[in-house]
Amino acid sequence: MKLIRFGARGEERPGLWQADGVVDLRDLFPEIPDIDGSFFEQGWPARLAGLQASGRPLQARWAAPLTRPSKIICLGKNYMEHAKEGGFEAPPSPLIFCKTPNTLNGPFDPVLLPQSSGQVDWEVELAVVIGKAGKRIPKEKALAHVAGVTVMNDVSGRQAQFADSQWFRGKSFDTFAPLGPALVTLDEIGDPHNLRLTAKLNGQLMQDGHTRDLIFDLPTLIANISEDITLCPGDVISTGTPAGVGIFRHPPIVIQEGDEVECWIEKIGSIRNRFVRSVEDGG
Ligand code: ZN
Repeated sequence: MKLIRFGARGEERPGLWQADGVVDLRDLFPEIPDIDGSFFEQGWPARLAGLQASGRPLQARWAAPLTRPSKIICLGKNYMEHAKEGGFEAPPSPLIFCKTPNTLNGPFDPVLLPQSSGQVDWEVELAVVIGKAGKRIPKEKALAHVAGVTVMNDVSGRQAQFADSQWFRGKSFDTFAPLGPALVTLDEIGDPHNLRLTAKLNGQLMQDGHTRDLIFDLPTLIANISEDITLCPGDVISTGTPAGVGIFRHPPIVIQEGDEVECWIEKIGSIRNRFVRSVEDGG
């Protein structure tokens, strides 16, 4: 099952993405909540699993496939080659940080270049969405807490990230977490540790990784994070980026106004975002 949200900003509706287009779930179920924590708490994914309905071509804007996460948890240095390109060792345990919910952005929406930080960079990542709350989740039960997976670009303001000696500001600028295009349930994915992922800058391949190279796999991450942090339905865990970001290249490449970044993951799809100075430029 591929869950999406679509519609103008502030008017998004939940939908199911099928080969024949979108099924407007609110047409069928007027009481259905937006795709947020309550959607998962009320058990909508299970209720929708056997749904037979015909889709129609999607004319509207694609929105991020979920809204109002209580937290977006990200992983630093979770691919060996990426740790190495930055001159780092592999961390002994998962290194986590947060992006704030104001970063959430649609899969094809513009990303705003910040005024206070240069050196904006891309990071293609497999993002996990939590479907069932839990604390001290054992590894062997971890995947039962996952609603599905999606593509995230963990856009990063490197100048702020490095100047601040910690990552909060550089990772949390408005629009810095384009997500989508769909939230894909694990039954369609198979093993989430068997997915190729790429990032392209203006059509040129920059990152070409594989989730089998994650240092800490999904069950390890969920068990580790939930040891003392309750995971809530709708929370996002973005699992880290492979090698090939811009800042560690020789010479470094940074995103310029007008550039377009496409992040793709096998079995999920692509998100594509243009980088602009203001919303007006981005339409
Ligand atoms: Zn990242």
